[in-house]
Amino acid sequence: MAPYSGALNYAYHLDAAKLAARLSRHAVGTLGVTHLQDKVVAVDAGESGDIAAVRTRGGERVEGDLFIDCSGHAALLIGGHYGVEWINRSPILANDRALAVQVPVAEGSPIQSQTIGTAQEAGWIWDIGLPSRRGIGCVYASRFLEDDKAEAILRDYIARAVPDVPPDSLTPRRLSFPTGHRAEFWRGNCLAVGLSAGFIEPLEASAIVMIELSLGALIDNFPASRLAMDVHAARFNELFRTRWDRVVDFLKLHYLLSRRDEPYWRAQRDPTTVPPRLAELVELWRDQPPSRYDLPLTDEIFPAASYQYVWYGMGGAVPPHLPPPTPAMRTQLDQLRQRTRSLLSVLPSNRALLGSHVAAGAREKVAQP
Ligand SMILES: Cc1cc2nc3c(=O)[nH]c(=O)nc-3n(C[C@H](O)[C@H](O)[C@H](O)COP(=O)(O)OP(=O)(O)OC[C@H]3O[C@@H](n4cnc5c(N)ncnc54)[C@H](O)[C@@H]3O)c2cc1C
Repeated sequence: MAPYSGALNYAYHLDAAKLAARLSRHAVGTLGVTHLQDKVVAVDAGESGDIAAVRTRGGERVEGDLFIDCSGHAALLIGGHYGVEWINRSPILANDRALAVQVPVAEGSPIQSQTIGTAQEAGWIWDIGLPSRRGIGCVYASRFLEDDKAEAILRDYIARAVPDVPPDSLTPRRLSFPTGHRAEFWRGNCLAVGLSAGFIEPLEASAIVMIELSLGALIDNFPASRLAMDVHAARFNELFRTRWDRVVDFLKLHYLLSRRDEPYWRAQRDPTTVPPRLAELVELWRDQPPSRYDLPLTDEIFPAASYQYVWYGMGGAVPPHLPPPTPAMRTQLDQLRQRTRSLLSVLPSNRALLGSHVAAGAREKVAQP
């Protein structure tokens, strides 16, 4: 089998700290990047208004042609230096708080192969299975739920999901976040990537894919000189404004289709909070299924299949005049069921698969001292 290919589509749960260290080793060792670890304390502007250099606490002055702002919520360059406007999306998506905790699991216990998201009275809980622990957390809206009540809900979930862990041994980390993004992501000679560009709550985990897409778009459209940079910036800004709109729409769809009756859920369904484009699509999807013509970007973050999955999975209306399945469709569905049965009988469990990867990694290390 080709490297990284699998019997089915899959996604990774990454240990962020280990991945960062590995990327750093690769960048420095293989690509010849200079890695300077320091705190940026000042920005020098050139005559044109571009950033000429950043200054560090250690006394370095780092000049550059293009600066990538990856300073997280601090947004040192795009916000601090350029003062690019922040577009607040919290009237559409109300969540602004999270609690996160690592819950140890018994050795050899099964690892679920998907993230489980469970709706709660004013938000939702994520539950991610890893070999030695489960990453569990709660996302909620401070307008509707106090922090202590959210923690009580999270503890209650953990007590039921992982009963052998003493609840007092866990201390959830409290996080708060602004929901929104910059009006522009690329201004002058500065491109914002990651949290400095924006953050929308983690339902459907769109943050890292936005980072990857930003870097991919930069690489594919890398300015050869300062002359063309403003054109690249304008195109990038247009594309990524659309991408952020899409993330907002897709997440909002989950809330719009909910049937829960607490104040939080009713507020999330309030028609005045629904973006006009999504309202139009919902109207359309009562008449015909979500299709690729509704999502014309060549590399949509969420393709039509994702919308169909959420729409029909959450009880969205089936168009009244949809013709009955043809014999060819029935055959395809039968084949799908057959494939599911045969894969279920031969594929290893998630723990067995991860265990074999870890063992293979260890063997490789021994072979290359
Ligand atoms: C519990 C949790 C689970 C998550 N799960 C997912 C997920 O499943 N999928 C997903 O897509 N996203 C997920 N996210 C979100 C994702 O992790 C973040 O969006 C991403 O890590 C942001 O990366 P960043 O580099 O933009 O910001 P950060 O990780 O905040 O990094 C910013 C860096 O800039 C540095 N910095 C700030 N100021 C200065 C300065 N003056 N000088 C030098 N350095 C400075 C900071 O020290 C920091 O290292 C999760 C987040 C959390 C908290």
